Amino acid sequence: ARKAAPKRKTAPAEAPEAALSAPAPTEFEVRNPATGELAGTVPIDSADEVAAKVRELRLYQPEWEAIGPEGRKEWLLKLQDWLIDNTDRLADVLQSETGKARVDSLIDPAFSIDLTGYYARRAAKFLADEHPSPHSPLARVKTLTTVFRPYPVVGVITPWNFPLAMPVIDVIPALAAGAAVILKPSEVTPLSAMELARGWREIGAPPVFAVVTGAGETGAAVVNNVDYVQFTGSTPTGRRIAAACVERMIPYSLELGGKDPAIVLADADLDRAAYGIAFGGMFNAGQVCISVERVYVEAPVYEEFLKKLTAAVKEVRQGVDGREPKYDMGALANESQAQIVQKHVEQAIESGARVLTGGKRTGVGTLFEPTVLADVDHTMTCMTEETFGPTLPVMKVADEAEAVRLANDSIYGLSASVWSGDKARAERVARQLNAGAVNINDVFSNMFSFALPMGGWGLSGVGARWGGPNGVRKYCRQQAITKPLL
Ligand code: ADP
Repeated sequence: ARKAAPKRKTAPAEAPEAALSAPAPTEFEVRNPATGELAGTVPIDSADEVAAKVRELRLYQPEWEAIGPEGRKEWLLKLQDWLIDNTDRLADVLQSETGKARVDSLIDPAFSIDLTGYYARRAAKFLADEHPSPHSPLARVKTLTTVFRPYPVVGVITPWNFPLAMPVIDVIPALAAGAAVILKPSEVTPLSAMELARGWREIGAPPVFAVVTGAGETGAAVVNNVDYVQFTGSTPTGRRIAAACVERMIPYSLELGGKDPAIVLADADLDRAAYGIAFGGMFNAGQVCISVERVYVEAPVYEEFLKKLTAAVKEVRQGVDGREPKYDMGALANESQAQIVQKHVEQAIESGARVLTGGKRTGVGTLFEPTVLADVDHTMTCMTEETFGPTLPVMKVADEAEAVRLANDSIYGLSASVWSGDKARAERVARQLNAGAVNINDVFSNMFSFALPMGGWGLSGVGARWGGPNGVRKYCRQQAITKPLL
């Protein structure tokens, strides 16, 4: 239960000694970064409260495991129905805490509905016992079985860019595996995750899913109490969490940052490439781990492609949106994010980049103009550090080989795209890239193909991947059982 300590949002300026002895805050505010409006007030869960929650989850988990994948499927399908019935309200809540355009706010519910259905229906198949063939005459007198048994309590820690979809992509497979789940959403956008918990309660499902809220300390408490950690967020935080998991000797998987390249070859359909890359850079105001973050274009088509890309990006309508979709793009998640984007763009301009459109904040909330930068190179932070904003820096390359070399010149390796009229050539290029996924003549396709493994290489990710059978098996320990035939 929550302690009824007095709330304190601002310390009175005239009484510094009182501020020093003030009790720690027990809640925090969530605001719409586009308008500054209050979206909600949320508790800060202490380490003790997190530990108590996990103890409670441990009580209910064995029964959840025991009902098996078919039993769990019914609850997950009920949750899917609830998500369908509540789509508009979920989009409202999400929009209020992110300042996204309405069209972007609808992505999370749609993705969540789709993914929940996928794992609800397929988990039984993915978790079915396996009977590997014996390797020797001796083993042939036994039945060999591989069994997938869940980690009792999985901790899921998520970022702010997709406040509902990021929780769902891990909470659902972990629940499907038979684990109990404690979720710590980003303190920037906790409200959508709290809605997910509300949905789980409203359908009357067993109490094997809980949400705790707060900042890094609450997240650290999750890491300190669970049996497996799934983290999605920045690489520095991922590194700290991995260190804490190693200390406890518990497994983890990390989905981290990216700096995804797009390679435009001279034989590409340039209109298609321009619109695809504009979408890949501008969708969700560029706040996607698999956003297009840098573009390499073969010299013969460089200027022509820049014209088409700039025209496509100029079509993006940006503004503070309401429930009726009017805009394609809204705000950045918070002030510090807006400042990072501004810094990358300013540094590029100072170093000689050409601004073809955009290039600055709009003056409203955290909105940043859709931006195309030309003539960039790898001395600029906009080509090496994750920007996570609506910016597309474009660099001219001599040929395919140089494009591959530069694309691979990154600490990250999440996803990439290759644009070419020759699909065989594009696939040859794809197979040379150091990235967990490559989309040919498209962006984001891998993310919406749940059957594929999704995850980063290099500093973009560690451990088991999202998607397919592994997306649910990663939450399981494998148990080998041998049984005599006679
Ligand atoms: P971003 O959301 O900008 O990617 P982070 O990677 O820092 O930022 O945060 C992602 C999530 O990790 C958030 O939910 C945040 O509260 C949480 N977090 C931050 N620090 C820690 C920590 N030391 N241990 C556990 N979780 C943390």
